Amino acid sequence: KQEGRNAYRFFRIEMNQQDDRQLMLETALRNSLETGEGIEVHYQPLFERDGGRLHSAEALVRWHHPLFGSVAPGDFIPLAERVGLMVPLGERVLQMVCAQLAAWQREGREPVPVAVNLSARQFWHNDLPGQVAAMLEAHGLPPGLVGFEITESTLLDKQQQATKLLQGLRDFGCSLAIDDFGTGYSSLSYLQDLPVTTLKIDRSFIQRLGEGERGSAAIVAAVTGMAHELGLSVVAEGVETEAQRRALDRYPVDLLQGFLLGYPVTAARFARSHLASRQH
Ligand code: C2E
Ligand code: CA
Ligand code: CA
Ligand code: CA
Repeated sequence: KQEGRNAYRFFRIEMNQQDDRQLMLETALRNSLETGEGIEVHYQPLFERDGGRLHSAEALVRWHHPLFGSVAPGDFIPLAERVGLMVPLGERVLQMVCAQLAAWQREGREPVPVAVNLSARQFWHNDLPGQVAAMLEAHGLPPGLVGFEITESTLLDKQQQATKLLQGLRDFGCSLAIDDFGTGYSSLSYLQDLPVTTLKIDRSFIQRLGEGERGSAAIVAAVTGMAHELGLSVVAEGVETEAQRRALDRYPVDLLQGFLLGYPVTAARFARSHLASRQH
């Protein structure tokens, strides 16, 4: 009985420490969002599979806190979702990406389109297309330079409203990718009704394909074949090894993304490595 009580007290303390940590992180994130300090966007290149030309980039948010150090998106994005900070965080990222694209244009760099990840909350927030339009206009960006990535689960609940929202974004020339394809419900039929442009095959399939697993080969064959029939472009995500790249040669994949081809890097580094300067 004695032990039981001790165990209980121990458990309570653990819980409190967890809560304290969550609360500290939440407060810190709130502050960082207000000041903008420590929030950064990294850019990972996507290349054409055939020919190897740079095609576009994916924007990935980074958060560095003076006390906590670098916090992984896998930790602070779910936190932001829970405590209602995802919409302001998402807006901050979009704003930073637009400002960066405008800066590259001013510096005489030839920018490539940048895709921004949208959380469900942000996607369904008031008038996203209107917000995007205002943002592009404010930064003097031509349509087509900004795109979005959305996961399947975001779109599945309310397909009709989703279609309207996506069409609103398409009207500004935004590319629209289904992210992590294959990990959600994967009802293939819904693809033909949604005005999306791109399918990103999740890293887990690419990994197993590289290991020669027959099941994933069948899935990759089916998904890429179908996507092509539907006129979508196909991205293989998370390509890490030569073996994976070679395995992908057999399927109609348009773009490759992954550590083998390029890590997510700061804007400055991305420009240095990937964006040509126009000759004056
Ligand atoms: P995601 O959208 O699927 O992004 C791809 C993740 O895989 C990124 O992790 C990227 O750094 C990582 N990655 C890229 N290539 C490779 C590879 O070859 N191997 C491996 N092992 N990983 C690779 P990151 O940056 O930690 O982001 C994790 C997730 O956090 C993202 O997954 C996305 O869901 C979310 N996220 C990141 N930035 C944002 C954002 O600005 N807004 C929203 N809503 N979500 C974001
Ligand atoms: Ca993504
Ligand atoms: Ca992904
Ligand atoms: Ca993911």
